[in-house]
Amino acid sequence: MADRKGMTEDNYEPLIYDPQYILMVNQLKKYFPIKSGMVSRVVGQVKAVDGVTFNLKRGTTMGLVGESGCGKTTTGRTILRLSGEKTGGQVLFNGKEVYDLTSKEMRDLRTKMQIIFQDPFSSLSPRLPVGEIIGEAVREHNLVPKAEFDDYIDQVMDNCGLQPFHKARYPHEFSGGQRQRICIARALALNPEFIVCDEPVSALDVSIQAQIINLLKKLQEKYKITYLFISHDLSVVEHISDTVGVMYLGNLVEYGETADIFKNPLHPYTQALFSAIPIPDPKAKMNRIVLEGSIPSPANPPSGCKFHTRCAHCTERCRQEAPVQREIEPGHYVVCHLYDK
Ligand code: SF4
Repeated sequence: MADRKGMTEDNYEPLIYDPQYILMVNQLKKYFPIKSGMVSRVVGQVKAVDGVTFNLKRGTTMGLVGESGCGKTTTGRTILRLSGEKTGGQVLFNGKEVYDLTSKEMRDLRTKMQIIFQDPFSSLSPRLPVGEIIGEAVREHNLVPKAEFDDYIDQVMDNCGLQPFHKARYPHEFSGGQRQRICIARALALNPEFIVCDEPVSALDVSIQAQIINLLKKLQEKYKITYLFISHDLSVVEHISDTVGVMYLGNLVEYGETADIFKNPLHPYTQALFSAIPIPDPKAKMNRIVLEGSIPSPANPPSGCKFHTRCAHCTERCRQEAPVQREIEPGHYVVCHLYDK
């Protein structure tokens, strides 16, 4: 990829499809209107996603990290077309613009693009037995012949570490880890190519987290599934991801191979975020970078570089001019004036 235009500019070069990428996201924007008064007049916009650009290779995992409210979840939902119309940019899935599809085409694509949520309990219907939860969409989309339906659901459940007798039980009869296995089985039953995993382990105990992460990795190896793994837990992201994107106030400020980002974080925000990762050595000294202030409102983001209000390296130029995304090393992108040539 060549260097790209600024993250906050409206004009962008349209993507040229590259088949090695299952997902190509270009300058994606999603704003939510702020309404006020009796007639709900629009008085502003919450810029939840404000020009996100990345490509995701088939069968790999991209971790998406950043503080709460930085736009990670909205990015995932906007890619899946779950938040209404996008405000701008492109989302190419297997070379097709997701937002150009008809409702029939979108319905077919839904089986290929799935999501797993943070809270497995609230995402499962309490009134349906587990077999029905997992099989409902399989039946709706006619994915397997009727005669093979039961065997198919058994096989999907087995792949996710669930037993056939679990089919007749209800979600409240399971532990948090098992409920997340049910959610994964429900997604897997549709034979997806891509899954957005939205904080899938953050509500679970640490030992159960490892089991779910290992299950996701096993399924990826077996079925070549691609994941967008949204998390605030950097240790988990390092373990599961091939590439990592760091988000701040609706923008991707750094993006690259996991090993490169963790070994050599370049953006001042990434450096601060990663400096808080605990080191499993009591003698090692942590050089924690503490960020001053809180994250600004996405309804009224700072001018120039959005991070300038908290950055120790801020200059006058940072306050005036938004930096552009640059490729600093092969496959390692950063959005910061410190790296301008
Ligand atoms: Fe800091 Fe300036 Fe870089 Fe923004 S552009 S991260 S304010 S040095």
